[in-house]
Amino acid sequence: MYEPRATGWMSVIINELVSFQLIATCPLLDWFVCIVYDDYDSSLLSASEALLSEPLSFFTSRLPTVTATSIAAYLGWVLFQALLYVFVPGPLHQAPRTPGGRRLFYRLNGFWAWVLTLVLAAYASYAGFLDPTLIAKHWTTLLATALVYSSALIGVFYIKARVAPDDKGDTLLTGHFWYDLFNGGELHPRTGQLFDWKHFNASRTGGILAWTLIFFETLDGAHERFSFYSIYGFAVMMPHLWTLQTQYLASHPVELSTAAVVLLVLGFAVGWTINHVANDQKNTSRRTNGNFRIGSQEAKTIEAKYETADGKTHRTILLCSGLWGIVRHPNYIGSITYTCAACLTCGSGHILPYMEAILVITMCIHRCFRDEARCKAKYGKAWAEYCERVKWRLVPGIF
Ligand code: NDP
Repeated sequence: MYEPRATGWMSVIINELVSFQLIATCPLLDWFVCIVYDDYDSSLLSASEALLSEPLSFFTSRLPTVTATSIAAYLGWVLFQALLYVFVPGPLHQAPRTPGGRRLFYRLNGFWAWVLTLVLAAYASYAGFLDPTLIAKHWTTLLATALVYSSALIGVFYIKARVAPDDKGDTLLTGHFWYDLFNGGELHPRTGQLFDWKHFNASRTGGILAWTLIFFETLDGAHERFSFYSIYGFAVMMPHLWTLQTQYLASHPVELSTAAVVLLVLGFAVGWTINHVANDQKNTSRRTNGNFRIGSQEAKTIEAKYETADGKTHRTILLCSGLWGIVRHPNYIGSITYTCAACLTCGSGHILPYMEAILVITMCIHRCFRDEARCKAKYGKAWAEYCERVKWRLVPGIF
């Protein structure tokens, strides 16, 4: 298996400490954001002062609670999306080869699930069955419910990976508790032929990823195990913190000048385009085995080989022209640009609504290193050649 493994007791201890620290602090960060928003009028400074003066009671006096409404709304959403995931028709898609050597099938019905959800939500709101402000009003109790739900999933799938893992070479257990809980476990746990828990959690729980095709080629889709990082990230952190701008603007309306609106819309469109063009170039290179054109030029690629857990050797290509010939992670530049544009709509009153931008920039920089360590372990010399040809990670001349 081509996973980079921590070897040596020092690396193992560091991995354990970092995994424990992230599992402990991510929920606290989410909860802290709710408190800042609800009790400190979105002022990070005042909330931080209060936290530093009474660190324990700051949280214990405001423990997260679930309510009947939040449980009904959250479970209703998850069950409804599970029904759509199973029953809405769509073409089957074969995902890239897993580290174990399998190529699994997925039903691509995210677009119609998204349309159906929007139409039903609009009708239910119009007919008075659904309060369209439900999420905004029950923001904190919904977060608490998502926390309970994700904790249950993390526990169940950790135990499953220990007791009855899939036997296809796609389970990663290092034997180190916190690391395995954080980032180990099964890669694609399934119930039946097509209910893929990781794909469902990532593409339906925290919101609907309608155009799911790129997901299978991403780090999350192809490589992250179904454990804390993946479960908590998609079920709790993204729906909560990635929507903070909307929640913030509901209570702190901002008047933007026309010039600012035009600039931000343009910035968002440019970022979104870079992200999608980059993802599309990479996916097309894999689909066509590098036989395609980027503009008027033939795409340039490097042939790479890798071995799967069943001992077989496979070949693939690394794209090294187009956007992937300028930097090694051009899609991250797009993500960072459109996220910053979205956050800037919140004006300069508070830092809180910039949480998504701060986290996305941090995650993208961290991912550059994490993804490259994995690609180096997977492709060896071919990856070294790619890095030799494309020297910069994100910004030419700087990083
Ligand atoms: P990528 O989509 O870039 O996927 C990385 C994988 O692509 C690598 O592991 C490797 O997989 C393959 N790859 C890398 N370089 C090449 C190359 N030159 N040619 C061909 N294949 C290559 O990364 P992520 O999964 O991190 O990101 C997925 C999406 O999510 C991106 O659009 C990103 O911008 C976005 N993102 C969004 C964030 C947000 O919160 N908004 C945060 C972080 C990312 P293989 O094993 O197949 O070779």
